[in-house]
Amino acid sequence: MRRGALEEKPIQAFMQIHPARLEFVQGDIAQQDTDAIVNAANSSLLGGGGVDGAIHSAAGPELLAECRTLGGCQTGDAKITKGYRLKAHYVIHTVGPIFRNSPREAELLASCYQRSLELAGVHHLQSVAFPSISTGAYGYPVEQAAPVALRAVIGYLNMHTGVELVRFVLFDRQTFQVYQRAFDHLRPS
Ligand code: ADP
Repeated sequence: MRRGALEEKPIQAFMQIHPARLEFVQGDIAQQDTDAIVNAANSSLLGGGGVDGAIHSAAGPELLAECRTLGGCQTGDAKITKGYRLKAHYVIHTVGPIFRNSPREAELLASCYQRSLELAGVHHLQSVAFPSISTGAYGYPVEQAAPVALRAVIGYLNMHTGVELVRFVLFDRQTFQVYQRAFDHLRPS
Protein backbone atom coordinates (compact mmCIF):
# COMPACT_ATOMS: atom_id res chain seq x y z
CA MET A 1 0.00 0.00 0.00
CA ARG A 2 1.28 3.47 -0.88
CA ARG A 3 1.19 4.93 2.61
CA GLY A 4 2.32 8.35 1.41
CA ALA A 5 -0.82 8.78 -0.63
CA LEU A 6 -3.10 7.90 2.26
CA GLU A 7 -1.70 10.13 4.97
CA GLU A 8 -3.98 13.10 5.15
CA LYS A 9 -2.18 16.37 4.48
CA PRO A 10 -3.46 19.54 6.06
CA ILE A 11 -5.66 21.69 3.90
CA GLN A 12 -3.20 23.38 1.64
CA ALA A 13 -5.38 25.74 -0.32
CA PHE A 14 -8.80 27.22 0.05
CA MET A 15 -10.97 29.87 -1.47
CA GLN A 16 -13.96 31.64 0.00
CA ILE A 17 -16.89 31.79 -2.41
CA HIS A 18 -19.15 33.79 -0.22
CA PRO A 19 -20.57 32.27 1.95
CA ALA A 20 -19.09 28.90 0.96
CA ARG A 21 -15.56 27.59 1.24
CA LEU A 22 -13.69 25.52 -1.35
CA GLU A 23 -10.82 23.40 -0.01
CA PHE A 24 -8.11 21.18 -1.49
CA VAL A 25 -6.46 18.37 0.37
CA GLN A 26 -4.33 15.37 -0.53
CA GLY A 27 -5.90 12.31 1.06
CA ASP A 28 -8.42 9.48 0.98
CA ILE A 29 -12.03 10.33 0.09
CA ALA A 30 -13.34 7.39 2.16
CA GLN A 31 -11.96 8.94 5.38
CA GLN A 32 -13.63 12.35 5.05
CA ASP A 33 -15.98 13.60 7.76
CA THR A 34 -18.05 15.85 5.50
CA ASP A 35 -21.86 15.33 5.46
CA ALA A 36 -21.48 13.55 2.11
CA ILE A 37 -18.64 12.10 0.10
CA VAL A 38 -18.95 11.67 -3.65
CA ASN A 39 -18.22 8.31 -5.24
CA ALA A 40 -16.71 8.06 -8.73
CA ALA A 41 -18.99 5.14 -9.52
CA ASN A 42 -19.74 3.17 -12.67
CA SER A 43 -23.20 3.06 -14.22
CA SER A 44 -24.17 -0.22 -12.57
CA LEU A 45 -23.50 1.26 -9.10
CA LEU A 46 -22.47 -2.26 -8.15
CA GLY A 47 -18.88 -1.61 -7.19
CA GLY A 48 -15.49 -1.24 -8.83
CA GLY A 49 -11.92 -0.28 -8.01
CA GLY A 50 -10.29 3.06 -7.17
CA VAL A 51 -12.55 5.47 -5.29
CA ASP A 52 -15.50 3.10 -5.53
CA GLY A 53 -13.55 0.20 -4.00
CA ALA A 54 -12.20 2.38 -1.16
CA ILE A 55 -15.67 3.73 -0.32
CA HIS A 56 -17.41 0.34 -0.39
CA SER A 57 -14.72 -1.29 1.70
CA ALA A 58 -14.90 1.46 4.36
CA ALA A 59 -18.72 1.66 4.31
CA GLY A 60 -19.37 -2.08 4.63
CA PRO A 61 -21.70 -4.42 2.70
CA GLU A 62 -24.85 -2.46 3.54
CA LEU A 63 -23.79 0.18 1.02
CA LEU A 64 -23.75 -2.32 -1.84
CA ALA A 65 -27.12 -3.66 -0.69
CA GLU A 66 -28.65 -0.18 -0.95
CA CYS A 67 -26.92 0.46 -4.30
CA ARG A 68 -28.58 -2.70 -5.68
CA THR A 69 -31.99 -1.07 -5.15
CA LEU A 70 -31.16 2.03 -7.22
CA GLY A 71 -31.28 0.61 -10.76
CA GLY A 72 -27.93 2.06 -11.81
CA CYS A 73 -27.13 5.63 -12.78
CA GLN A 74 -26.59 7.39 -16.10
CA THR A 75 -23.34 9.11 -17.01
CA GLY A 76 -23.42 12.69 -15.72
CA ASP A 77 -26.16 11.95 -13.19
CA ALA A 78 -25.98 11.22 -9.44
CA LYS A 79 -27.83 9.18 -6.80
CA ILE A 80 -27.62 9.31 -3.02
CA THR A 81 -27.38 6.59 -0.37
CA LYS A 82 -26.61 6.46 3.31
CA GLY A 83 -22.96 6.25 4.40
CA TYR A 84 -23.25 3.27 6.80
CA ARG A 85 -19.84 2.74 8.48
CA LEU A 86 -18.28 5.84 6.92
CA LYS A 87 -17.74 9.06 8.86
CA ALA A 88 -19.83 10.77 6.17
CA HIS A 89 -23.59 10.26 6.63
CA TYR A 90 -24.27 10.07 2.89
CA VAL A 91 -22.61 8.90 -0.28
CA ILE A 92 -23.48 10.63 -3.53
CA HIS A 93 -22.71 8.26 -6.39
CA THR A 94 -21.99 9.91 -9.72
CA VAL A 95 -20.88 8.40 -13.01
CA GLY A 96 -18.19 10.27 -14.89
CA PRO A 97 -17.64 9.99 -18.64
CA ILE A 98 -15.10 7.54 -20.05
CA PHE A 99 -12.56 9.69 -21.88
CA ARG A 100 -12.66 9.28 -25.66
CA ASN A 101 -11.76 12.88 -26.51
CA SER A 102 -15.25 13.79 -27.71
CA PRO A 103 -16.74 17.26 -27.12
CA ARG A 104 -19.60 15.99 -24.94
CA GLU A 105 -17.27 14.73 -22.20
CA ALA A 106 -16.56 18.08 -20.52
CA GLU A 107 -20.30 18.74 -20.32
CA LEU A 108 -20.93 15.31 -18.77
CA LEU A 109 -18.09 15.75 -16.31
CA ALA A 110 -19.39 19.18 -15.25
CA SER A 111 -22.83 17.64 -14.86
CA CYS A 112 -21.44 15.08 -12.36
CA TYR A 113 -20.32 17.90 -10.05
CA GLN A 114 -23.47 19.93 -10.58
CA ARG A 115 -25.93 17.04 -10.06
CA SER A 116 -24.03 15.92 -6.96
CA LEU A 117 -24.25 19.40 -5.45
CA GLU A 118 -27.93 19.66 -6.38
CA LEU A 119 -28.60 16.40 -4.53
CA ALA A 120 -26.64 17.69 -1.52
CA GLY A 121 -28.75 20.85 -1.58
CA VAL A 122 -32.04 18.93 -1.77
CA HIS A 123 -30.96 16.89 1.27
CA HIS A 124 -29.89 20.02 3.18
CA LEU A 125 -26.28 18.86 3.42
CA GLN A 126 -23.74 21.51 4.29
CA SER A 127 -20.44 19.86 3.37
CA VAL A 128 -19.42 17.64 0.45
CA ALA A 129 -16.08 16.05 -0.48
CA PHE A 130 -15.29 15.19 -4.11
CA PRO A 131 -12.57 13.00 -5.61
CA SER A 132 -11.20 13.76 -9.06
CA ILE A 133 -13.98 12.14 -11.09
CA SER A 134 -13.08 10.23 -14.30
CA THR A 135 -9.31 10.75 -14.02
CA GLY A 136 -8.47 7.18 -12.94
CA ALA A 137 -9.84 4.12 -14.74
CA TYR A 138 -11.97 6.36 -16.99
CA GLY A 139 -8.84 7.98 -18.42
CA TYR A 140 -9.77 11.67 -18.44
CA PRO A 141 -6.48 13.65 -18.40
CA VAL A 142 -6.27 15.47 -15.05
CA GLU A 143 -5.02 18.67 -16.71
CA GLN A 144 -8.27 18.81 -18.70
CA ALA A 145 -10.58 17.54 -15.97
CA ALA A 146 -9.43 19.89 -13.17
CA PRO A 147 -10.61 23.19 -14.72
CA VAL A 148 -13.92 21.59 -15.73
CA ALA A 149 -14.43 20.33 -12.17
CA LEU A 150 -13.50 23.65 -10.58
CA ARG A 151 -15.64 25.75 -12.90
CA ALA A 152 -18.65 23.49 -12.27
CA VAL A 153 -18.27 23.70 -8.48
CA ILE A 154 -17.54 27.43 -8.37
CA GLY A 155 -20.45 28.06 -10.76
CA TYR A 156 -22.81 26.13 -8.49
CA LEU A 157 -21.61 27.82 -5.29
CA ASN A 158 -21.98 31.24 -6.88
CA MET A 159 -25.62 30.52 -7.70
CA HIS A 160 -26.84 28.59 -4.65
CA THR A 161 -26.75 28.80 -0.89
CA GLY A 162 -26.97 25.76 1.40
CA VAL A 163 -23.76 23.85 0.71
CA GLU A 164 -21.15 25.69 2.76
CA LEU A 165 -18.07 23.55 2.22
CA VAL A 166 -16.79 21.72 -0.84
CA ARG A 167 -13.54 19.80 -0.38
CA PHE A 168 -11.57 18.28 -3.25
CA VAL A 169 -9.74 15.22 -1.94
CA LEU A 170 -6.91 14.37 -4.31
CA PHE A 171 -5.24 11.03 -3.80
CA ASP A 172 -1.73 11.60 -5.08
CA ARG A 173 0.63 14.52 -5.08
CA GLN A 174 0.61 15.00 -8.83
CA THR A 175 -3.20 15.22 -9.06
CA PHE A 176 -3.21 17.58 -6.09
CA GLN A 177 -0.69 19.85 -7.80
CA VAL A 178 -2.63 19.89 -11.07
CA TYR A 179 -5.80 20.97 -9.20
CA GLN A 180 -3.85 23.63 -7.33
CA ARG A 181 -2.49 25.04 -10.57
CA ALA A 182 -5.96 25.04 -12.15
CA PHE A 183 -7.31 26.73 -9.04
CA ASP A 184 -4.57 29.41 -9.11
CA HIS A 185 -5.37 30.00 -12.76
CA LEU A 186 -9.09 30.50 -12.10
CA ARG A 187 -8.74 32.52 -8.91
CA PRO A 188 -9.35 36.21 -9.51
CA SER A 189 -6.08 38.11 -9.05
P1 ADP B 1 -12.93 6.97 -12.50
O1 ADP B 1 -13.41 5.57 -12.85
O2 ADP B 1 -14.08 7.97 -12.44
O3 ADP B 1 -11.78 7.40 -13.35
P2 ADP B 1 -11.21 6.18 -10.25
O4 ADP B 1 -11.70 5.76 -8.91
O5 ADP B 1 -10.56 5.15 -11.12
O6 ADP B 1 -12.47 6.88 -10.96
O7 ADP B 1 -10.16 7.39 -10.07
C1 ADP B 1 -10.52 8.74 -9.95
C2 ADP B 1 -9.41 9.48 -9.24
O8 ADP B 1 -9.47 9.20 -7.85
C3 ADP B 1 -7.99 9.12 -9.67
O9 ADP B 1 -7.21 10.32 -9.68
C4 ADP B 1 -7.51 8.19 -8.55
O10 ADP B 1 -6.11 8.25 -8.36
C5 ADP B 1 -8.19 8.81 -7.36
N1 ADP B 1 -8.40 7.92 -6.20
C6 ADP B 1 -8.27 6.57 -6.12
N2 ADP B 1 -8.56 6.14 -4.88
C7 ADP B 1 -8.87 7.25 -4.14
C8 ADP B 1 -9.22 7.48 -2.78
N3 ADP B 1 -9.34 6.48 -1.91
N4 ADP B 1 -9.47 8.77 -2.39
C9 ADP B 1 -9.36 9.80 -3.26
N5 ADP B 1 -9.04 9.65 -4.56
C10 ADP B 1 -8.78 8.39 -5.00
